[in-house]
Amino acid sequence: MTTNAQEFASAQAIMPGGVNSPVRAFGSVGGVPPFLVDAHGAHVTDVEGKQYVDLVMSWGPALLGHSHPAVIEAVHRAVDHGLSFGASTADESKLARLIANRMGGVERVRMVSTGTEATMTAIRLARGYTGRDLVIKFAGNYHGHVDALLAAAGSGLATLALPGSAGVPAAVTAETLVLPYNNREALVAAFAEFGPRIAAVIAESAPCNMGVVAPEDGFNAYLREITAQHGSLLIIDEVLTGFRASDAGYWGLTGRVEGWVPDLFTFGKVIGGGMPAAAIGGRQEVMEHLAPLGPVYQAGTLSGNPVATAAGIATLEHASSEVYAHIDARSLQLQDELTAAFNAAGVDHSIQVAGNLFSVAFGTSDAGVHNYADAQAQEGWRYAPFFHSMLESGVYLPPSVFEAWFLSAAHDDAAMDRIVSALPAAAAAAAAA
Ligand code: PMP
Repeated sequence: MTTNAQEFASAQAIMPGGVNSPVRAFGSVGGVPPFLVDAHGAHVTDVEGKQYVDLVMSWGPALLGHSHPAVIEAVHRAVDHGLSFGASTADESKLARLIANRMGGVERVRMVSTGTEATMTAIRLARGYTGRDLVIKFAGNYHGHVDALLAAAGSGLATLALPGSAGVPAAVTAETLVLPYNNREALVAAFAEFGPRIAAVIAESAPCNMGVVAPEDGFNAYLREITAQHGSLLIIDEVLTGFRASDAGYWGLTGRVEGWVPDLFTFGKVIGGGMPAAAIGGRQEVMEHLAPLGPVYQAGTLSGNPVATAAGIATLEHASSEVYAHIDARSLQLQDELTAAFNAAGVDHSIQVAGNLFSVAFGTSDAGVHNYADAQAQEGWRYAPFFHSMLESGVYLPPSVFEAWFLSAAHDDAAMDRIVSALPAAAAAAAAA
């Protein structure tokens, strides 16, 4: 048996930072990341045989729990017929319809393999459709590692305190206007100055990459209103929230209730059920600007891959109202337990909530977190000792204060009990920091 430390050293000797995605390196919390060998239900197991209750859940895809039998079976069935065809399959339209039937305004769908590809395509499509160049994004919103969107992005950039990425030409981000989140005045000013040049506004449906930050009441509806007024497109990024915050993502809690749809959605994570699948969906007239019908080029060797498609279909078919009710209830339960543990330990905090998604912020009880500046101003140093105490107790949290916590249909009473019993010591560690 090897140890996590041995595996990490071995990984660092061949891969930058020992990882294939930065936050996995535990940069902001320090220490040795567990190297995982198994994921079932609400649990993951590392190379040392230690089992953890998982609150990362592959960063969102495992809505039903890891290795859900129906998903595994669907994948096995698909694998038996071949791994990749590079030609169309009936299942791709089936998955596209499962997505479209749950969302509003999704008249056409294009499958890709990652959330990054989805947002990259959405931006290109918005520019190609409108003939305009500028894009508005919000500070602390993360849309994958698309050049144009790596300005004041959250997620790993927030964790590593990077303003943007080296290697992105200034000319590229010069076409991106970064505005403070939840701030209508900034939008009004940007549209007043640049309106006819703005191709699109892109926003996370509820930001979950600077910690969780709920859009203030009516904020997303306002995005719809101001973009429509100026002939700009609205791109709502549901890569993380899609088919998780509700059967129709966070849009299901906002647009569906308020009666509006964006021009384009981006999806990922849950629609691949743990395999690489993502999508752009939206208005037919806009979507048909994509090749082969239109002039906006986009393609992918593995797009709509049959194994990923099978996992996505099985996941969405099993994502019932009971699954969402379960996750909603577990989320509320854990939020209450967190509040109790932090209060008992005297830790100033806020639980940041958007639907069933939440994260913890420290030193923010007065006003909460409403934008990236608030998120960065928190007492973030309290997270590392909290995180490591939880890890020691067998609970695997996101290794950054700027990430959402993920629950699943597999988080049962036993898993919840294990999390709850770990909280007092972890809250005390946060208090002592
Ligand atoms: N958009 C959002 C809102 C995300 O949270 C992420 C990934 N966490 C992405 C886009 C990028 O997805 P991927 O990592 O699959 O490229």
